[in-house]
Amino acid sequence: MAVIDGKALAETIKLEIREEVLLLKEQRKNIPHLAAVLIGNNPASESYVKSKVRSCEHVGFESTLIRKDDSITEQELLDIVKDLNEEEDIDGFIVQLPLPKHIDEQKVTLAIDPKKDVDGFHPVNFGRMAQGLPCYLPATPFGILTMLERYKVETEGKHCVVLGRSNIVGSPMSILLSRKAYPGNCTVTLVHSRTKDLSAEIKRADIVIAAIGIPHFVTADMVKEGAVIIDVGINRVEDDSRRRGYRLVGDVEYDAVSSKASLITPVPGGVGPMTVTSLLLNTLSASKKEIYS
Ligand code: NAD
Repeated sequence: MAVIDGKALAETIKLEIREEVLLLKEQRKNIPHLAAVLIGNNPASESYVKSKVRSCEHVGFESTLIRKDDSITEQELLDIVKDLNEEEDIDGFIVQLPLPKHIDEQKVTLAIDPKKDVDGFHPVNFGRMAQGLPCYLPATPFGILTMLERYKVETEGKHCVVLGRSNIVGSPMSILLSRKAYPGNCTVTLVHSRTKDLSAEIKRADIVIAAIGIPHFVTADMVKEGAVIIDVGINRVEDDSRRRGYRLVGDVEYDAVSSKASLITPVPGGVGPMTVTSLLLNTLSASKKEIYS
């Protein structure tokens, strides 16, 4: 068994981005600028946004953090989105989800100009992805594709089972791995809460992508010997031995499954760091106008 070290790979890619930014500076070209909108005090959202802003600084991007408390109205947030859409100096921006209950997330996502939608959540980018057209790929699936590519995982003709059908992970992942490309050319089965015999489906998989948000859902008896296991889940479980009272675990029972897997991602330190890196890559593309002119 070998471990896919997402943390180390993310650092390598950030160094590559940093070098490119230095070159852009030397050539007096546009320096990528990412803005992040954070509403309220959700601790997980705060930590994700902080890590995104820190990563921007690390690679030499400009970054802007817009913080508002959760009493903000939907219209006020839509006005912020409109300003960011129009602000020439901002190449791309994200609105960190989840939003407070009184704000319609879909309405906010639809208000983002697809040209600045570096999270790749807008239906225009999703549609372009589904048709194989240039687009911003959703950050987590993009990070997983990069991992498979950099670890030279063979995907052509392989049977891939994706667990979970969310708009941001499971569904786009299933589309991307079935496309005619590398990584891709897989035969993909998408399983979810209504799948009849989930274990039997997973057992047939050469590549398993678990994104359901249930701690340790995938157990060793469910996976085939030699399978590649990508664990997207980030779940908090109580742990009194930790100062903060919890620890993070994935959707896969790591210790037992790793003894059967040929390659596996840990949690933390697997898919998570790659998601942030993908956001940086999308912002770099936005600043170079590679996708949209
Ligand atoms: P989601 O809650 O939107 O979707 C979960 C999916 O799992 C649903 O499609 C549902 O049908 C399926 N599901 C739920 N229970 C099931 C069951 N018992 N059997 C089979 N399928 C079941 O979740 P999401 O946003 O896709 O996130 C999934 C997990 O990945 C979460 O733990 C989340 O925190 C994590 N996540 C991690 C990253 C990262 O960067 N590593 C990014 C996004 C999400």
